[in-house]
Amino acid sequence: MHGEITEIPFLDRKTETAPREELTRIQLAGLREQVASALRTDFYRKKYGPLGITPDSIRTLDDLRRLPFTTKNDLREAYPFGLLAVPKSDVVRMHASSGTTGSPTVIYLTQKDLDAAADTMARSLVAAGCTRDDVLQNMMTYGLFTGGLVLHYGAERLGMMVIPISSGNTIRQLKFMRDFGTTVVHATPSYLLHLHAAMLESGEGRSAYRLRKAIAGAEPHSEELRRKIEDTLGIEVYNNYGMSEMNGPGPAIECVFRQGMHIWEDRYIPEIIDPDTLEPVPEGETGELVLTILCRSAMPLIRYRTRDLTRFLPEPCPCGRTHRRIARLTGRTDDMLIINGVNVFPSQIEEVLLRMKGVGANYLIVVDKNGSLDKLTVQVEITAEAFADDSRAINALRERLRSEISALITISPAVEIKEPGSLPVSEGKAKRVEDRRPPE
Ligand code: ADP
Ligand code: ZN
Repeated sequence: MHGEITEIPFLDRKTETAPREELTRIQLAGLREQVASALRTDFYRKKYGPLGITPDSIRTLDDLRRLPFTTKNDLREAYPFGLLAVPKSDVVRMHASSGTTGSPTVIYLTQKDLDAAADTMARSLVAAGCTRDDVLQNMMTYGLFTGGLVLHYGAERLGMMVIPISSGNTIRQLKFMRDFGTTVVHATPSYLLHLHAAMLESGEGRSAYRLRKAIAGAEPHSEELRRKIEDTLGIEVYNNYGMSEMNGPGPAIECVFRQGMHIWEDRYIPEIIDPDTLEPVPEGETGELVLTILCRSAMPLIRYRTRDLTRFLPEPCPCGRTHRRIARLTGRTDDMLIINGVNVFPSQIEEVLLRMKGVGANYLIVVDKNGSLDKLTVQVEITAEAFADDSRAINALRERLRSEISALITISPAVEIKEPGSLPVSEGKAKRVEDRRPPE
C-alpha cells in the first residue's frame, strides 16, 4: 500500500494530541457557549424555553444527553432565519447543502466562524499529509456547496497553490493537472474513477501527471473503491467526511495511517446513537452519528442527527492524535433500501462489484416493482478489456456478480452488463440508486 510512515504532520500538535481531560474541558465550555447562543435564536428559544435549558443547567458533559436532538426537518422549519444567533449584519457568508434528500438547508457564518472553518480545514489537510508545496486542484463545485469554497479557504490558509477549477469538464481537468503539476486533488470518489478512465482514453497514462494524493468525500464509498482508485491512479486516497450543516468538509479526515477518520473533538462533540431507541450504542458499535458544532457563533446546531451511519474506532491511533476516529460511513439511515422486506445498503453491493476483476468505473442500482414484488437490478459497466471478451466470459462474469451479491444481501438481483462509459456520470455526488417503485 504505502511505504513506512516516518513523519506524522500536525498543524496544531498540542491541541491534536491533547489529553482526554483537556478535550472534555474544552467541550464542556464550548457546549455551554453554544447553549447560550442557541437561546438567542427563535428556534431553540421555543424548543429549550419550556424545558428550562440554560447554560447553567449544563454542569458536566453528560448533561448533553438531556438536550433534545435537532433534525434536518428542524432546519427546514427554521428556514430562512430561525436559527440565526447574531444580527444579520454580522453574517459574512451563507452556504447551503446540495439537497440530495430534499430542499436545501442553509448555514450562516460570521468572519470569525469562517476563519475557524478555514483553520479546521487546514488542520485536516495537514493531517492528510498536504503541505504548502502542494498544488491542489479543487474539483468540487464552487458556489453554495461547502466542498468548493470551504476547502479552498483551508488550502489557502495552509499555503497550498489552489486551482479553483470547480467540477466538470474532464478534458480541461486533465490538462490543468498536467500543465500545473497538480499534486493533490479534491473530488468525489466516483469522479476519481471517471478521471482515470478519461486519462486512459486520452492515451496518456498516469506517468504524465504528478498527482500523489486525493482528498475524497461527499459521498459514501467502500474500502474496495478506495483501493481501486489508489491502484489505478497510483496515489493515496484520504477519506474526508463533512456536511454543510457542520461547515463543510473539515470535521473529520484520515491521518497518514488511513485507518478511520479523526473527528476534531475540540470543535465538534460526536455521539453515536441507536436511531430507533435514540440511546447511545455501546462503544465500537454502529449507529447514527450525532454532532454538536462548537466552532460557530452565527448558527448553533446542538445534537444534530446526521443520519449517517458509523462507529467509533476505540483503539488509539498510531499517529498520537487523541481525537477519536470514526469508521468509513456505511451510508445514511435514509439510504437503506427495503427490498421485499430485506434491508439492503447500496454500499454492500458496491463492495461486491469492486472486488471483482473486470468491473469498470460506474454502476447503478435500480429498484422496481414486478407485480407485488420488488425487483432489484444492478447495472454495471465493465472495463473495455472485459467488454472485448467473448459472450461466454461476459455471461460468466454476470453470473458471478449475481451469485456474490445474492450471497451477501440474500436477494438475487438481475445483473445488466454495460459498455464502459454508457452510464451517466455525475458532476457532484454520484447517483447510485434509482428507486422506481411507486410511492406507497
Ligand atoms: P446533502 O447531501 O445532505 O444535501 P451535503 O452536500 O452537505 O448535504 O452532504 C453531506 C452528506 O454527504 C453527509 O451527511 C454524508 O451523508 C455524505 N458524505 C460526505 N462525506 C462523506 C464521506 N467521506 N463518506 C460518506 N459519506 C459522506
Ligand atoms: Zn491518526
